[in-house]
Amino acid sequence: MKILKSPQELNLALFDLRLKKTVGFVPTMGYLHDGHRKLVKQARKENDVVVVSIFVNPLQFGAGEDYKKYPRGLARDQRILEAEKTDFLFLPDVKQLYPDDFVTEVRVSRLTEGLCGKSRPTHFAGVTTVVLKLLNVVQPTNLYLGQKDYQQYRVLRQMVKDLNLQVKVRMVPIVREPDGLALSSRNVYLSKTQRDEARFLSLALNEAKKKIVNGEKNVGTLKKAMRDCLKKAKSARVDYLEIVDADSLQGVLKLKSGQTVLIALAVYFGKTRLIDNMLVKGK
Ligand code: AMP
Repeated sequence: MKILKSPQELNLALFDLRLKKTVGFVPTMGYLHDGHRKLVKQARKENDVVVVSIFVNPLQFGAGEDYKKYPRGLARDQRILEAEKTDFLFLPDVKQLYPDDFVTEVRVSRLTEGLCGKSRPTHFAGVTTVVLKLLNVVQPTNLYLGQKDYQQYRVLRQMVKDLNLQVKVRMVPIVREPDGLALSSRNVYLSKTQRDEARFLSLALNEAKKKIVNGEKNVGTLKKAMRDCLKKAKSARVDYLEIVDADSLQGVLKLKSGQTVLIALAVYFGKTRLIDNMLVKGK
């Protein structure tokens, strides 16, 4: 695995390869777990060359969020990526991506207003700005994103379409712990009690899913069932709990038959904010 820090060097290293080979790209913030690993495995399966980036992007953290203490563990990350046969690891530093005179922002409207965009109003502009920069450096054939951050996937897919970027966006399903908790680098922040109660996130999603599969269409009823389930997690504080159309991300009141909806939630355990979601097709 080649490790490169400079955008120019990585772009140059990929220049000849791109002419004849497919390139799969997995952007991450590091502290890798089996969710990231699944993205890399999929990229490995579908491409000749695999590029992974690790960059904790300051632009996507709001004031008072966990940018400074975001977990980092480069030596272990490198071992994981070697084991998954990654060809290039891109490790830019902040000054390289954002020099002092940096003033450009890439912003996708509408899709970024609800869900996580509501409580994190600057987050998605930070994501789209850095991902466009990374895509310009790597110029991959395929971009791999996790369903775990479904809104991010949806927003980036729109950016790719709107800006005519020549990359295919692939979504990889959520990898979970045996008790259902979605893997996340932030799970290390949880105390033992919080970790135990965090399983109610996926239990609440499953509760709504089960009801939809059984024909329930009323979103009020579905949300109530989810809230009741989350009440069992005593240390949890719900940030949002939404059922939206999976394509437009607009809220729905009543599910239409055949409509795919996203059931999504964000829940605080102390200062730790966890997100999870499920995609379900109405009967
Ligand atoms: P992050 O390092 O948190 O920025 O995540 C990098 C990529 O990994 C994003 O596309 C995430 O959606 C994806 N990802 C994170 N957690 C999971 C998970 N549990 N299952 C699948 N993909 C994930």
